[in-house]
Amino acid sequence: MADKEFDLVVIGGGPGGYAAAIRAAQLDLKVLLIDDRQGDDGKPAPGGTCLNVGCVPSKALLDSSKHYHHIRHDYSEHGINVDDVSMDVGKMIERKRSIVKQLNGGLMQLFKANKIEFANGRGKLLAERRVEVRPHDGDSFTAVGKHVMLAAGSVPFTIPNVEIDGKFIVDNEGVLEFDAVPARMGVIGAGVIGLEMGSVWSRLGAEVVLLEAMDELLGVVDQDLSRAAAREFKKQGLDIRLGAKVSAAEISDNQVKVSYTDKNGDHSESFDRLLVAVGRKAASNGLLAEDSGVELTDRGQVKVDEHCQTSVKNVWAIGDLVRGPMLAHKASEEGIAVVEALATGYGHFNLDTIPWVIYTDPEIAWVGKTEKELKDEGREYRSGSFPFAATGRGLAMGNATGHVKILADAEDDSLLGVQIIGANASELIAECVVAMEFHGTSEDLARIVHAHPTLSEAVHEAALAVDKRAIHKAN
Ligand code: FAD
Ligand code: NAD
Repeated sequence: MADKEFDLVVIGGGPGGYAAAIRAAQLDLKVLLIDDRQGDDGKPAPGGTCLNVGCVPSKALLDSSKHYHHIRHDYSEHGINVDDVSMDVGKMIERKRSIVKQLNGGLMQLFKANKIEFANGRGKLLAERRVEVRPHDGDSFTAVGKHVMLAAGSVPFTIPNVEIDGKFIVDNEGVLEFDAVPARMGVIGAGVIGLEMGSVWSRLGAEVVLLEAMDELLGVVDQDLSRAAAREFKKQGLDIRLGAKVSAAEISDNQVKVSYTDKNGDHSESFDRLLVAVGRKAASNGLLAEDSGVELTDRGQVKVDEHCQTSVKNVWAIGDLVRGPMLAHKASEEGIAVVEALATGYGHFNLDTIPWVIYTDPEIAWVGKTEKELKDEGREYRSGSFPFAATGRGLAMGNATGHVKILADAEDDSLLGVQIIGANASELIAECVVAMEFHGTSEDLARIVHAHPTLSEAVHEAALAVDKRAIHKAN
């Protein structure tokens, strides 16, 4: 059979690949999108890690567990007394599944509406921009693209002597599917997934112990934020043990026994369930034929330049498969920028203004540089911070934990970084990203009118504090 011809062949239908495919179709390119995920009903499940076993389902469980926690612990302060609260874990998981399914279906409709050809199966890049396509149902074929985009995403790291069995020892997939609240849950890795999913099951009543290899919590985060976060997590009962090196985990009698070493010696702990969340690696396995010509880094990522061009002309790679933060919005915007550049000659994407959000309670969000990074660079800066406890809205909500911190260049006042810990930090960071993307200054944020009473007033006041003129705190 002759090769099928396309303007763009995309391998991987996560937020990187599918957004790129849709944008390419909008720009009148003929597109083939290949994604191998299937739901438990055997139907295609596009949306990648993010939609199926990442961002979306984890946030569904974070929201459900937050409601439960608030009812049990916070409502009485508002004068609301609720008796006989119980948690139906099965219903919570079913709700999460139906949200995922709804969005899988929505994506399939979008592919159809945009006339994207979709293949549910594996794709492999051969030489000369040819792609071998092996659908789960139907015959294999070869597609050739004027351009090919690799968007295969990432898979979890594993660690020696800790084997994922999917029931007792789980990764990010299994932890979304527990059928009951474990009495005692262990987590290896107090990173983003460990903290988010540890929070879910802790709010529902599990005793959660996190074993973290590093000596500090959330090393990439601004130190003021990570210190504040550590305090809050401790208050919530999360037992975070730093400097803990896990050597093995074994299952016996429906328990997982974990052995680890820290500065005080060897320890062992038993858990009902164990989550392994020690980072993720590029899913480059099986993606490239030997003669594809695409080079990998020594970490197995696809090597790309600043335009996401691989070592082969007109073969592009984006998202978790390449350098940069492993975030859904990074993958999407990168893919769209590549497509716009190849179709129109210009695509915009700025790796320096990608917001990060950790959806714990309080939420943690940041953009740009941390204070430590600025110090290491020897850059002169001014900083201003403001606590939510000094905002009327925070107190009215009964959720005034945390603060906003703004870092600006000492000379020209340009915004260098913003860090927020507190309620709705995930939403508040957006105005700071806009300001940074427009090369704004702390003075710009300080001069913009912010509605009262809102949490965004803390952003405003932190900007005023850079110039030591915050109104609602001593400067
Ligand atoms: P993926 O989403 O991994 O998609 C790649 C797709 O390609 C997958 O469907 C894969 O099966 C398919 N594929 C791979 N190889 C082939 C092949 N050879 N042929 C066909 N198909 C193939 N990010 C955020 O921004 N916010 C969050 O809140 C957030 N929460 C997360 C929570 C968890 C538990 C996890 C695990 C991740 C989370 N992330 C979050 C990260 C986010 O999911 C990823 O950064 C994002 O999904 C990367 O998108 P991508 O398109 O590069 O890859
Ligand atoms: P992570 O890099 O955030 O955290 C992994 C943690 O495990 C680190 O703190 C690391 O020091 C620790 N670790 C590594 N090996 C260890 C070992 N042997 N023993 C004990 N600790 C060990 O990775 P993750 O939590 O697996 O998440 C993967 C990625 O997915 C994140 O980096 C992020 O890019 C993405 N993600 C994003 C969000 C979000 O945006 N809210 C949520 C979840 C995941």
